[in-house]
Amino acid sequence: MTDETDISYILNELGEDRSNYFNAVAPPIIQTSNFRVNTVDELKKLFADEYSGYLYSRGLNPTVDILRKKLAALDEAEDCLVFNSGAAAIFAAVLANVNKGDHIISVKNPYSWVKRMFDLIFSRFGIETTYIEGTDIEQFENVLKANSRFIYLESPNSWNFAIQDINKVVAFAKRNGLITLMDNSYCTPLYQKPVPMGIDMCMQTATKYIGGHSDTLGGILTGSHQMIKKIFDCEYMAVGSGIQPFNAWLLIRGLRTLEIRIRRITESTKEVLQYLKKHPLVESILFPLDESFPQFELAGKQMKNACGLISFFVRAEKKKEIVHFCENLKHIMMAVSWGGHESLILPRCASLEETEFDAGNKEHRMLRLYIGLESAQYLIDDLEQAFRSSF
Ligand SMILES: *Cc1c(COP(=O)(O)O)cnc(C)c1O
Repeated sequence: MTDETDISYILNELGEDRSNYFNAVAPPIIQTSNFRVNTVDELKKLFADEYSGYLYSRGLNPTVDILRKKLAALDEAEDCLVFNSGAAAIFAAVLANVNKGDHIISVKNPYSWVKRMFDLIFSRFGIETTYIEGTDIEQFENVLKANSRFIYLESPNSWNFAIQDINKVVAFAKRNGLITLMDNSYCTPLYQKPVPMGIDMCMQTATKYIGGHSDTLGGILTGSHQMIKKIFDCEYMAVGSGIQPFNAWLLIRGLRTLEIRIRRITESTKEVLQYLKKHPLVESILFPLDESFPQFELAGKQMKNACGLISFFVRAEKKKEIVHFCENLKHIMMAVSWGGHESLILPRCASLEETEFDAGNKEHRMLRLYIGLESAQYLIDDLEQAFRSSF
């Protein structure tokens, strides 16, 4: 008997119907915009419910469906939609669940474009957003209004790793009839599954760990069948930001190695973290599963593990030292994004003028490191030579 929740089954077999395409091991890219129907009755059925079959690739597409089934199973959710980016997935999910005059409660530092979406788009339609730290359930209770409708969560945050107590937020949301969405990009379903914990919708940028090769964008939304169909029937079809078959195929390919990539990155991250913690030029580090992390206990309780991203604070007097450090790295690249094969660095002070740099402000001395698939020693050697030549 096959255990259909086994990750090996999900990544290698679930959703695939090889006897239908010449027993090819890799799925075909069904690169078509439209699908032929044989009878008027078929057309009638599809016009009434486009979620019931293949009509037009802005709706359902067979290559995308293979991916949807795997991603729903990984999240232990009933259903899934895949978008052309993580931002598109978030936009559709929020748009589908708020109305004029509603109030949104959001964590304080969500992904940058999410904040712009709330502040510059939804505000134009009379939808107000209140930002809270989100680290304590009382902060949610304190901002609750009669018109509160939606809670936006990101746990952990991808810069400072702030987390929300999922069980407590779910209980609060259910008590007050609020819909919850959680950005789970940091953990992936391997390390955290918000949907079985009671979160209504789980979002992930597939651009990061799911794709894993820095060669495609994508966004994942999972939840109940009812919720996902509601979004498909309106926002998904109307905005037209569903993923293209070729990009879906790249994400299926990324999934084959998801488990082994995450395992490797988890191991290397521990080694690089120990190196950074001992370095005299590093004042402190931020990592959710380090004892020094302010929410260490909660992180250990609700996350299976953590990997990839580390933030650290260097003992810099001037911005110049941080600039040199980043520019002197020979292998670790300076770039946005993360989750791919390549290690990356981002300095928090990038937008500051040299004269605006304040060594007394810890944030200015913050860097975020993403650990990719290189060996830990290769990365440590690169960091060491950059420290030596920059400070
Ligand atoms: C990158 C990112 C997103 C946005 O995903 P895109 O695929 O780039 O649109 C959302 N949330 C987090 C935490 C991210 O890192």
